[in-house]
Amino acid sequence: MTDCLFCKILAGEVPSEKVYEDEHLFAFKDIYPKAPYHVLIIPKKHIATLNDLGDDDTELAGRMIQAAKHLAKEAGFADDGYRVVMNCGEGGGQIIFHMHLHLMGGRTFKA
Ligand code: AMP
Ligand code: ZN
Repeated sequence: MTDCLFCKILAGEVPSEKVYEDEHLFAFKDIYPKAPYHVLIIPKKHIATLNDLGDDDTELAGRMIQAAKHLAKEAGFADDGYRVVMNCGEGGGQIIFHMHLHLMGGRTFKA
């Protein structure tokens, strides 16, 4: 996906602050953080939105959630609590159409 910002980040064409990487996933700091800790966890495979998640992507989606759990623990706010969000489509507030999980922590979230 040449036109996708997050694919460009994966390719190293756009800089990012990496916090985690494995064979399937990449995680980096959100450029406009909405919490003291705000990281985006993305699959290396380009999937535009949650609606495009295939039946054979179930393990990949699970890996994203597991990564969020591990990063929250590593960052030290797992026990305090944190927020994991995925926006889907324009109406869901999605701006970048490469599926991603927001992991936010370091403050108290209300509603
Ligand atoms: P969403 O609204 O769920 O699509 O979230 C997109 C997120 O990507 C927003 O929180 C943006 O702040 C973030 N973002 C946009 N461009 C970049 C970038 N170049 N590096 C890191 N995060 C970005
Ligand atoms: Zn992409």
